[in-house]
Amino acid sequence: MPGASFGIYSGYYRLAHDATNLACSGPFPHPATVRESFRATVRESFRATVRESFRATARGSFRATVRESVTVSRVPALPRLRSPTAPPIRVPRVPRVRMVAVRVTSALPVLDERLRGTKFVALGTSSILNSPAQTGMDFWSLNPYVGCEFGCSYCYARYAHRYVVERAHDAGKLSDGEFREFRGPHGWEAFEQRIFVKEQILSALERDLQRFFRSVGPTVGPSDTIVIGTATDPYQPAERRFRLTRQVLERLARCEELSVGLITKSPLVARDIDVLQRVRARNDLEIYVSLITVDAALIRKVEVRTPLPAVRLRALRRLTAAGLNAGLIVAPVLPGVTDHLPRLEALFAAARDAGARFLHAGPLRLYPGIRDRFLPVLKQHFPELAGRYRRAYARQSAAPRTYATALTRRIKRLQQRYGFPVNDGMRDRYRPRREPAQRELGL
Ligand code: SF4
Repeated sequence: MPGASFGIYSGYYRLAHDATNLACSGPFPHPATVRESFRATVRESFRATVRESFRATARGSFRATVRESVTVSRVPALPRLRSPTAPPIRVPRVPRVRMVAVRVTSALPVLDERLRGTKFVALGTSSILNSPAQTGMDFWSLNPYVGCEFGCSYCYARYAHRYVVERAHDAGKLSDGEFREFRGPHGWEAFEQRIFVKEQILSALERDLQRFFRSVGPTVGPSDTIVIGTATDPYQPAERRFRLTRQVLERLARCEELSVGLITKSPLVARDIDVLQRVRARNDLEIYVSLITVDAALIRKVEVRTPLPAVRLRALRRLTAAGLNAGLIVAPVLPGVTDHLPRLEALFAAARDAGARFLHAGPLRLYPGIRDRFLPVLKQHFPELAGRYRRAYARQSAAPRTYATALTRRIKRLQQRYGFPVNDGMRDRYRPRREPAQRELGL
């Protein structure tokens, strides 16, 4: 349609003129010329913009690089090694990190460490099985670790950790600085943060079993039980990585007619149901899941990092469902805190529901080494009891006799009511129940 075409040309022609050449007084140029001129202008303008933008970017980038290199050259180089006590290095917009010392040679090499500050330290050991004569306890004992991350405020094993640290210091394996670190500011923290992992445990156990069999003779006596976890928890978090307890159980599974006890607060014990069943097949085995109350909030006041009650009860259920002889150990009963009848009833009922086959309980023993840790916790959460504890435990570590007698009566009544065997509390644990036999398979 030419008319229409013309109309468009005409409109464009006028528009181009009005917009670009208002000052021009000469004749109007041809539309094709105007179009070409317009395109050339746009092209040139676009190229100029791109060129300028490219130059600006290159300029900015160059300046930034120069600025950065100048800044970097002003910052002193980071030290390659830092003291473990040095403050954390702060990096903008990056979570706080702590550089730790890496020791190339050390008498106590660090095997692993956690973000929360725990270090696992190798401890060479030539003996792992402690006789009753060595410990004063009425059974043999075995503890794969020294120290425990669970950090119960009433734990009496802190003294053992302190003993190991002092011996290592005396033997020159810890410097004075390391000695302070391995004690902690108040003398008790390191128990929860510097965990000794006993090395060469299997060769030590091999030698000790020979000693054990020589000492025990042909008949099993009441003090011939081997209890794993008397001082520290054999299934504490370290076990997940180092698996020492599992190795010990694998070895004991090759023995027969032993009497073995195992105490833990950890559900990790259920990981080893297979090997526990093999131990149980030829030996007496009693597994004690330790729990002082089913009240999770109360647990957290006195046990810093232990698994919560429901988790422990579930592990107990798995052990008993697997046919293992497992029960509950309620130790320590904390006077005025966990000994109320309704609390104990709830605990007994939960143990029965989890299939516990027995239940032992005993009151708190407040050894001197525990007081520094436990009494401040008690004062913080139960200030009304602090004075009563100080008076009750003023002259001895054991609970007052009258209290212990009353508690035993209460526990026995509950054992009857909930269908558990009635026992004499902690004195009645770890009794061998089998007749003597060959003891060691393959020897
Ligand atoms: S779990 Fe046992 S060994 Fe570990 S801190 Fe608690 S009481 Fe001590």
